[in-house]
Formats: sequence, structure tokens, C-alpha cells
Amino acid sequence: MRIGHGYDVHAFTDGDGLWLGGVRIEHDQGVAAHSDGDVVLHALMDALLGAAGLGDIGQHFPNRDARYRGAASGDLLQDVLEKIRAQNLRVVNVDVTVIAQAPQLGPHREAMGRSMAQLLQLDEGRVNLKATTHEGLGALGRGEGIAVHAVALLEDAG
Ligand code: MG
Repeated sequence: MRIGHGYDVHAFTDGDGLWLGGVRIEHDQGVAAHSDGDVVLHALMDALLGAAGLGDIGQHFPNRDARYRGAASGDLLQDVLEKIRAQNLRVVNVDVTVIAQAPQLGPHREAMGRSMAQLLQLDEGRVNLKATTHEGLGALGRGEGIAVHAVALLEDAG
């Protein structure tokens, strides 16, 4: 068994929504990002890469590389999963915590869980999603951005 942790944060900017866990969520703001800015999938990829001992997404998909401008994070995640399979590892479960004052994730929780399970090719029961505000504290509390922690467990594929 191998465990990994990932963290990502994106600042809110002008826009009309954001990608979270592969789901487009309407909001009165967007996020500043080089790719599609899916902060959930970014943290998830870092957790998976961490568990596999493969560094971080910055190393695999550099910001300065024009190929990844506007990249769909779901596609990048498929790349990460291939790298994990190449190490003869598979995902056991993942646990994700989203920290933001807004948008409220309650109405999107099911869709996000389903989307992440599909992307990871896991049963939905192996994909857990939690959401919390930052209790008004600091930049996240002022609603200036959105942060995500993710934990992933991998096992030998046998
Ligand atoms: Mg990111």
C-alpha cells in the first residue's frame, strides 16, 4: 500500500463558473489558471503521483508548456493513471476536501463524485468528497480563492 497527499489552490477571477472534479459549475466567478483550473483534479493528481513516488503535476505537465494551455484536467488525469499502471499500481480509494466560502458544493456533490469515480474507474463508494468553508479566516475566508486537499491510496495491481 502506498499513500499520497495533494494540495492545490486557485484564485477566483472574473468568470461565470469553474471546473471541479470534472464537472462545470456555474458561479459568478471563475478561476485564474493555465489549464482548465480544475483545482479538485489537480490536487487529486498530486495525491496519486505522490503515492506512486512520481513527483508532482508541475513536473509532468509544466505551466510553461503551451501544450497544457486550457488542457482538460480529466485528460491529464488519464495520463497520470497510465503512469500509475505502468508502476503496476492501482487506486484503492481517494478522499478529497474542498475549502471555499463559495460556491456551495451540496447541489453538485453527487455529480462531482460520479465524475471523479468515472475518471478514476472506481466504484463511487471509493471516492469521497468533503466540503468546508474557511470560517471567514484569511484569503480563502474572504472568498478570494478555492483550495483542495486530496489523499489517495494505491495498492499493487498484482
Ligand atoms: Mg492547479
